[in-house]
Formats: sequence, C-alpha cells, structure tokens
Amino acid sequence: SPKEGKKTSDIPDIHYEDIGGLGRELDQVREMIELPLRHPEIFERLGIEPPKGVLLYGPPGTGKTLIAKAVANEVDAHFITLSGPEIMSKYYGESEGKLREVFEEAQENAPTIIFIDEIDSIAPKRAETKGEVEQRVVAQLLSLMDGLKGRGQVIVIAATNLPDNIDPALRRGGRFDREIEIGIPDKKGRLEIFQVHSRGVPLDLESVTLTEEDHVAEGEGSTDEERKRKKFLKPYAAATHGFVGADIALLVKEAAMHALRKSMVGIQMDEEIPLEILDTLRVTKEDFDEA
Ligand code: ATP
Repeated sequence: SPKEGKKTSDIPDIHYEDIGGLGRELDQVREMIELPLRHPEIFERLGIEPPKGVLLYGPPGTGKTLIAKAVANEVDAHFITLSGPEIMSKYYGESEGKLREVFEEAQENAPTIIFIDEIDSIAPKRAETKGEVEQRVVAQLLSLMDGLKGRGQVIVIAATNLPDNIDPALRRGGRFDREIEIGIPDKKGRLEIFQVHSRGVPLDLESVTLTEEDHVAEGEGSTDEERKRKKFLKPYAAATHGFVGADIALLVKEAAMHALRKSMVGIQMDEEIPLEILDTLRVTKEDFDEA
C-alpha cells in the first residue's frame, strides 16, 4: 500500500477489482497515469512529455475518487488528497501556501498522485464568481503545475461534476489536458457494481435455479455459485436505471440491514447472538425488494 506521510489522508485498500463497470475508463487512466509513473523512460525515449494532470468529470458517486485511490495503490505511489472547498475555506488566506506545501511534499515523496476533489470550487470559470482570492489560488495552481518538471513522477488528478464551470486555463496543454468522463453506469456496469458490493454478503442462493441457458450464457470459467450470484443480482441491476455506484452500495447495505433486523426479532441488543443465527443469516430477494 502507498507510503504515507503525515499530511497524507488515510488511503483505504482500494484495488481495481473494487471498481465496477468502468473497464474502458480505467484502461485510459492506467495508460495516462500508471504508464508514466512506472516507465518514465518510455516517455524520454519517445521525446514526449508525460501527462501532468488528468481531469475526471461526471456526476457525484460514480467512482472518481475510487479510481484515483486504486491507481495510487497499484503503483505504490504517495497519495495526497485535497478537497477544493476545503482549500478555499479551511485554509482561507493560506490557500496558496497550502498548495505550495502539498506540491513540495509530492516532489519529495515521488512518485506521487495528488488528488484534488471538486476542483471547480478552486477555479471557477466566470469572472463574476471569481474573487481576488480565487484568482490568486488558480494562478498558484497553474504555476505549480507548470513547474512540475521532468520525468512525470508527480501527477495531479482532479475531479469535478461541472467540467464546463472550471477556468479554461486549467484545461490547456501541460495542465489538465487529458479528460476522462466517468458517467452513470449502464445495466452491465450496474451488475458489476452490485457484484463488487455484495462480494462478502451471504446471498440467499437457494432461491436461484440455474437453467441450461444460464450455463451457456455465462460461459466457461465461472462456478455455479458465481452464476447464481449473478442471476440473483441481475433483476436489481435491471431495475435501477439511473443509479450510480454510491446508490448501489447503499442499496446493498440496506438489504443486508433488512435481513439483519428480521433475524434479530426477539433477541435483545445486549444478548449474545446465537451462532446458528449468524450461520444461517441470508440476505434474500425480499430484503433486496424492500431495500
Ligand atoms: P463525488 O463527486 O461525490 O466525490 P465520486 O465520483 O468521487 O463522487 P466515489 O467517492 O468514488 O464517487 O464513490 C462513492 C462510493 O460509491 C464509493 O466509496 C463506492 O462505495 C461507491 N461507488 C461509486 N462508484 C463505484 C463503482 N464504479 N464501483 C464500485 N463502487 C462504486
């Protein structure tokens, strides 16, 4: 897991397999970030500058933060998170200094990924909404990014829900000049996200019967249990049009809580939970329907 410095936020153990439905987007991110961090010599050989900044944009709860954490984890990079609104408020009057500090820490501990969440709040586009403080902070950020030298060992990932609201100067060459949309998942993506979030959940698979077709459809390589889990979850992936990853995570949690509440009927909070209840606890279709 990544090295942690004193100003580093805790980075949970997020890996690529914890992210559902963003295969293509992840490939792009890996090419832009993992490749230069792992193999700076390739970029030198080709005589091109590795990217310094990548902008992830899309609605809230779709996995932008997850992606940044997973990449940092995978390349064993130092990871620093900055929240746009926090830089502007908590460090009010010291925002520029804070940014400078972060970039220094990044270079000292390289390879480093700096993740700036809600960058639109630091660098809004319209002049009317941009006060003097914002102008100074944007100027500082631009100069720090322009000052990142050499071998691409510090990469800044920024996230926003509002890509059209950020200062266009940030999106020019040499800054956040790569953009990846992290959109709302489709049915297939939702199924993958359901699978990720129910990985450790004891689903009631006895309610699922596999047919000959299921075996053919799921292809080789998966076990009957995996096929059953998939078949159990499929109707929920189909029924949750418009849900993002964060919604699906919450739904699975709610279904599990529903199952738990049912099994706790008649048991006092301070009583020990009988082992056979834990052993037989299953999250059923009814629990998912209720959730
Ligand atoms: P925001 O703009 O609100 O910061 P975000 O896009 O950064 O949103 P995340 O913080 O990455 O969203 O996601 C929030 C939570 O939702 C995650 O911790 C995870 O549990 C779940 N989640 C979101 N997207 C996915 C996904 N593609 N696969 C699995 N889980 C996801």
